[in-house]
Amino acid sequence: MFRFSSIKDYHTTLQNGQTTCVEAVHFYLSAIKEKPQLNAFLEVFEEEAICEAERLDAKRISGAPMGKLHGVIVGIKDVICYKGHVVSAGSKILENFKSIYHATVVEKLLQEEAIIIGRQNCDEFAMGSSNENSAFGAVRNALDESRVPGGSSGGSAVSVQAGLTMISLGSDTGGSVRQPADFCGVVGLKPSYGRISRYGLIAYASSFDQIGIFSKTVDDAALCLEVISGADDFDSTVSEKPVPTYSTELKVAPRKYRIAYFKQALEHPGLDPEMGAAIMELIEQLRQEGHIVDPIEFDLLNHIVPTYYVLTTAEASSNFSRFDAVRFGYRAPLINSDLNDMYKASRSTGFGKEVQRRIMLGTFVLSAGYFDAYFTKAQQVRRILFNKSVDVFGKYEAIISPTVPSTAFKIGEKSDDQVAMFLADIYTVFANLVGIPAISIPLFTHSNGLPFGLQIMTNHFEETTMLQLSDQLMS
Ligand code: GLN
Repeated sequence: MFRFSSIKDYHTTLQNGQTTCVEAVHFYLSAIKEKPQLNAFLEVFEEEAICEAERLDAKRISGAPMGKLHGVIVGIKDVICYKGHVVSAGSKILENFKSIYHATVVEKLLQEEAIIIGRQNCDEFAMGSSNENSAFGAVRNALDESRVPGGSSGGSAVSVQAGLTMISLGSDTGGSVRQPADFCGVVGLKPSYGRISRYGLIAYASSFDQIGIFSKTVDDAALCLEVISGADDFDSTVSEKPVPTYSTELKVAPRKYRIAYFKQALEHPGLDPEMGAAIMELIEQLRQEGHIVDPIEFDLLNHIVPTYYVLTTAEASSNFSRFDAVRFGYRAPLINSDLNDMYKASRSTGFGKEVQRRIMLGTFVLSAGYFDAYFTKAQQVRRILFNKSVDVFGKYEAIISPTVPSTAFKIGEKSDDQVAMFLADIYTVFANLVGIPAISIPLFTHSNGLPFGLQIMTNHFEETTMLQLSDQLMS
């Protein structure tokens, strides 16, 4: 019987001849088939995955060196382009739209011999915190199927949680990797802005979007990160900084860290008291072990969610003008209509409610009369937040916090209360606003039986420190 614990162990068993990529693919295909009710996959690339596994087995057995992700079973969120495959962004407006090129991350995964097993369900255009906004139905949390898995990368998180893939790629604009990782009890990593190419990632808010990784272990996240990071001619916002070999740099002797936490984050009335207490206990324990863990004043906490929503909806309203039903995507069936009617009908029936709401909000904050009051103001707050991060990281190596203020909620519980839903992002959006890396690691279990995570943020391009500290805390 096939068992997966980490990529490293899997590779050892492949090399020893104890398993094959074909066996692994069959194992995951049947796991996916056993759990259709989770709705984690929008499409499974069954035959292709088997063919690729056969090819890799033959290649390995012939003595060829193995790629870094040789035979690793990966799922990709339905916002990442895979040439010749549908990429719908969880939206009716792109239903059946086939990608004509590979995203850079897909190119890199394939170069290192990963096997892409399918595309995963998500909130429409990655807008949401519960995966209830997908045009193709909600995703269920495998630990309690009446609960949400978090969002927007819900399908990718559940796949790792339920053992339907070894790792998954998601995208994180304001927490969409870390928040579902927290709700599902897995590792979720968002790198620095500019670490991974966004080429072939369907845009939501371009100055925030980053591709991120779900895995069971910090080691697997590190290995995947080193494969998919790095400069790209197709995305000028990617840094030229060399990519460290995170998977080996991760392993260092345990040491003492200088850690900060935002006082207001732990005192926030929206935070589940039991979760707050668990984090405070961890802080105490870290102090006792000799780490420096200091509270930092952060009086802007209540402004970060509004700032995030003003800026991301503005960017979305501009990005989404490309969905005009002319060049690609869904077009509403209309006869004898003019161009404007065609735009209106297609966009108002093709986009779901949440996406329409955000396009309208974004168009409003960018409109001539309100631009300065909202957009310019939010950009100024973003700058202040950036300065705050420079200040904190001048003295500390990491900032810790809860990842989300509550554990996974019930499906339907918050869908009519947008403000409550937006508050789920209170701890995660800071990292996207300032562009720093952040990770959620599954350290805790609530008395309600659900997992929750610790978020660790480090300075720009300090992924290595973040991974080392995560590894130390998880061991
Ligand atoms: N929940 C946030 C939102 O709806 C984050 C989404 C994301 O990171 N893609 O915008």
